[in-house]
Amino acid sequence: MTLFCATTNPGKLREFNLISGDIKVLPVPGLADIAPPEETGATFAENASIKAAYYSGFVDGVVFADDSGLAVDALGGAPGVYSARFAGEDATDERNNARVLAAMDGQTNRRARFVCVIAVAARRHPLMMFEGFVEGELLTAPRGANGFGYDPLFYYSPFGCTFAEATAEQKFGVSHRGQALAKMMAARWSGDFLFR
Ligand code: IMP
Repeated sequence: MTLFCATTNPGKLREFNLISGDIKVLPVPGLADIAPPEETGATFAENASIKAAYYSGFVDGVVFADDSGLAVDALGGAPGVYSARFAGEDATDERNNARVLAAMDGQTNRRARFVCVIAVAARRHPLMMFEGFVEGELLTAPRGANGFGYDPLFYYSPFGCTFAEATAEQKFGVSHRGQALAKMMAARWSGDFLFR
């Protein structure tokens, strides 16, 4: 059985296939040529749902889309759904990290979490959603070269290092995305689910 995913990001595809078992996860065919929908949602759930429903109109099958980001307690949950563009529309990971560090200057409460919502849809209808999150603390300077996004700032105490210092497998074993995906895969045994 094949499940289509609304990303061509090779890192994410690799992560998804790490735990998808007998289900093959492939990008929606022709995804690169499909104009993306506007992510107008105020929450990860809304954006994931917009993307899954939209892309399921282009393929005969079940599609899932994820939306994720960083939520920092001392910043009232920011950057949240603006994680990818916190430092502006053309922001790089480095600039986003620098903006978070500047906003956190002098803050002693450094608690933060990564959140991921996966939405599943077919024939333009959102069907189910699954959420995962992982708690950590923001350092005052980046550390490590693995991963992407805010990983170099995200200190995960059970590992004693940042996500950018952990391996991809270690990170995926505990990450927001790994947990949301594991919930989705578990749901296929729940009786009323749609892909077997
Ligand atoms: P998206 O879900 O791919 O749109 O991700 C939104 C943004 O959230 C990314 O550009 C990153 O800045 C951040 N983000 C999401 N997941 C992670 C992660 O696992 N590590 C670091 N940053 C992440």
